[in-house]
Amino acid sequence: MPRGTIVIDAERCKGCGLCIAACPQRVLAFSGSLNASGYDVARMENPEACVGCAFCALTCPDVAITVYREKKNA
Ligand code: SF4
Ligand code: SF4
Repeated sequence: MPRGTIVIDAERCKGCGLCIAACPQRVLAFSGSLNASGYDVARMENPEACVGCAFCALTCPDVAITVYREKKNA
């Protein structure tokens, strides 16, 4: 199973929750911390479960998510 991780740009996030619903691995959840605009920012609640599929990033309407995948044979 490939492994991945993501970085969420907190100030771009609008707390819509679409990434949370899109993640097949149930990695994401609301953090409970608000950004400067007052939105509850998503975060990785189960980071070890991330497979780097990028569904979250493709779903985010605010392009707040960057996905990194672990290289094979690295
Ligand atoms: S890259 Fe895939 S597994 Fe990882 S948080 Fe995003 S949707 Fe979930
Ligand atoms: S889809 Fe984007 S804007 Fe919506 S909660 Fe996730 S990171 Fe934030």
